[in-house]
Amino acid sequence: MKSSQDKPQVLLAHHLKALRLPMFLNEYPKVAAQCATDKIDYAGFLLRLAEIELLERERKGTERRIKAARFPSPKSLDDFDFLAAPSANKKQILELARCEWIDQRENVIMLGNPGVGKTHLAVALGLSACRRGYHVRFFTAAALVNELVEARNEKLLLKLQAKLAKLHLLIVDELGYVPFSKTGAELLFEIFSQRYERGSMIVTSNLAFEEWTSIFDSERLTGALLDRLTHRVHILPIKEQSYRLAQSKARRKQKA
Ligand code: ADP
Ligand code: MG
Repeated sequence: MKSSQDKPQVLLAHHLKALRLPMFLNEYPKVAAQCATDKIDYAGFLLRLAEIELLERERKGTERRIKAARFPSPKSLDDFDFLAAPSANKKQILELARCEWIDQRENVIMLGNPGVGKTHLAVALGLSACRRGYHVRFFTAAALVNELVEARNEKLLLKLQAKLAKLHLLIVDELGYVPFSKTGAELLFEIFSQRYERGSMIVTSNLAFEEWTSIFDSERLTGALLDRLTHRVHILPIKEQSYRLAQSKARRKQKA
């Protein structure tokens, strides 16, 4: 007597699960029916299923990478108003969104006053990198330094450094808002050094380069850091006044 275990569908479901092909399993009855109607041969049927599986795998991968990047809020280039930021070079930014600079292990530095859209653009470029398969992680400078100091105290510094070294793109936002301790500055410097020509960074700051000495409290360290960071760099100076400020002024004007 035949048991239900012998049914090909049951075995097929088992094998497709073991092979980790969930979309094959979910979709094959429907696709098989479609292919029968469309008179598509076996190779065409397999191709359709493989495409569905691949697309789903890419979608899930992107979703995982975006989650792992820990962006503070989801911002994309689509919701960046270039008309409100005429000093932001649209052509350059759209080019950067293609991520070739990440393959070249180059860096991006965004400089400008608070509220001009630096974080927005950094997240947007990071998001675009996640969508293209790169591993990204977003930190504020203060949070990164905190994690580094904590890791060092707990003797986990090497582990954290190794984790960061695996990233294709490290985003360090708001460099210059908070000055660091000597240890903090040195640990951050070490990260920047380790990435030199090995992985890309986006660094945003409200301070001009001349003022970076005040962040690291050491001319020697700042000089060495700028030397590494700016070796292969795209600099985006954004000169507008605060977008938020401009928006609230415009709203007030409308009301008046
Ligand atoms: P920064 O990091 O330079 O201080 P943010 O990127 O945080 O500025 O921008 C402040 C707020 O204004 C954010 O909500 C951001 O999305 C928005 N914003 C800034 N510039 C623009 C712009 N040109 N188009 C659309 N939104 C913008
Ligand atoms: Mg910001």
